Amino acid sequence: MNGQMMSQPLLISALLNHAERHHGKREIVSRRVEGDIHRYTFRDLAARARRLAKALNELGVKPGERVGTLAWNGYRHMELYYAVSGSGAVLHTLNPRLHSDQLVWIAEHAEDRVLCFDLTFLPLVEAMATRLKGIRQFVLLTDRAHMPAQSTIPNLLCYEELIAAQDDRYQWPTLDENSASSLCYTSGTTGNPKGVLYSHRSTVLHTYASVMPDALNVSARDVILPVVPMFHVNAWGLPYSACMVGAKLVFPGAVLDGKSLYELFESEDVTMSAGVPTVWQSLLAHVAADKLKFSTMRRTVIGGSACPPSMTRAFERDHDVKVIHVWGMTELSPLGTTCVLKPVHDSLDEQALASVKAKQGRSLFGIDMKIVGPDGDELPWDGQTSGELMVRGAWVVDQYLKGEGGDPLIDGWFPTGDMAAIDDDGFMQITDRAKDVIKSGGEWIGSIDLENIAMAHPAVSMAACIAAKHPKWDERPLLVVVTKSEQKVTREEMLAFYEGKIAKWWTPDDVVFLDAIPLGATGKMLKNRLREEFGNHLVSMATALELEGQVSPQ
Ligand code: AMP
Repeated sequence: MNGQMMSQPLLISALLNHAERHHGKREIVSRRVEGDIHRYTFRDLAARARRLAKALNELGVKPGERVGTLAWNGYRHMELYYAVSGSGAVLHTLNPRLHSDQLVWIAEHAEDRVLCFDLTFLPLVEAMATRLKGIRQFVLLTDRAHMPAQSTIPNLLCYEELIAAQDDRYQWPTLDENSASSLCYTSGTTGNPKGVLYSHRSTVLHTYASVMPDALNVSARDVILPVVPMFHVNAWGLPYSACMVGAKLVFPGAVLDGKSLYELFESEDVTMSAGVPTVWQSLLAHVAADKLKFSTMRRTVIGGSACPPSMTRAFERDHDVKVIHVWGMTELSPLGTTCVLKPVHDSLDEQALASVKAKQGRSLFGIDMKIVGPDGDELPWDGQTSGELMVRGAWVVDQYLKGEGGDPLIDGWFPTGDMAAIDDDGFMQITDRAKDVIKSGGEWIGSIDLENIAMAHPAVSMAACIAAKHPKWDERPLLVVVTKSEQKVTREEMLAFYEGKIAKWWTPDDVVFLDAIPLGATGKMLKNRLREEFGNHLVSMATALELEGQVSPQ
């Protein structure tokens, strides 16, 4: 017997309709690449998205066809989010921080037909245009006044003119909720990136789950400034969450330094933000240097790589800003877990609490997880045993675009490539990327632990721990450190800092000081690059010491 309730497909256009009808006056504020601050409401967004949908139809964009974007966080990108997916086409957000060869490869692989891009990226697109053979139309996201007098790009259209040519009488089509809505490629640090094709259903379910109190706790009272880019995994879903709950949105555009972000937080009464740890590093440095306080910020979501406890402490103790540590990945669109405490943690002392907050947290409803050993058997949730993290759920990839890489699942579970432990309260902690694991004499050492300790040193601004080849132990940890500009620390002081905090044999064998650690297109440290450069560091060091007669060969 079927239930007798209405059946309505879960569609992205429904989020926009809801925002327009029930939160129509709520504002969206954007720092434009043209330089000024732009303001309008959800009502304006909805009307312009409908005009854009009509314009896309007129350009011949068919259901399921891909529309690429190369754009910062801003209202025009938001319009594309809704108009492209809502009209039945697929929004393909491209990451402008990638090398142009890789961008061309991705756009061609995805068969993008239209490319919409911000003014900032005009030179980049001009350099790629002749190689982007599948693109029928290029659209510059600006008005006539900012269009270049001439450009080498064929068929370059002006976004504002496209919109102005249409009226806003448009009915969003009733699509199958399982139809594709948007596309994002994995970072692809090894091999070619792979496309993850989200559906309307997976996106709306992800939105429901992520706004819940024990997730990101987003409400109509919030003013959200997503620093995390809309060009990578949907800015962690915040452009959708804001419409679902009616939160004000503040888009920072292309200016992401600590000072500019702080000014926007203050001038727009921002209550919550979200970003990777490297972004918060510069913001915290700015507020500390100028002894500033956040007037309205109450919490910030940190993920993408491990949030060091020293960062959580700085936010919570110095600024009364709560940190929500999250874990996710492109294959999950992206949220999987949030570290939001349970009553069982109420009685913990400060140190024990800090250890819990360092964890990536517990599953959202809709995502199940487990850890497995090398033989695939499930491992216990004792908070100690580490194995590969596997997930399954309503917004987990089933297969990659065009079946690339074959069937990614093992018995219906997606292997994340992350190593993790889970405690008996269900709190998961990432110990490493599987490929970043350090194996010393057959025993495993967790690089994230070592990095978190280094980050707690007052002189350190960034730390990476990598596996370096070792003549005796196969691999040993090597610490790579960037110090704060005004601070100094020696190798010996750095290594002494580990004393009493970890088992002695976990202490890194050496420290390399760098001016900067290379970051990938999504702000993560490129440990593979460090391994390429310093993977033989300990071997060379041992040889040099031997030559100097300081150690006898074993
Ligand atoms: P991406 O698909 O580019 O979003 O990268 C996903 C990967 O980032 C995950 O598989 C993890 O290795 C890493 N990651 C994401 N969030 C965290 C976190 N909070 N702590 C540690 N690693 C994380």
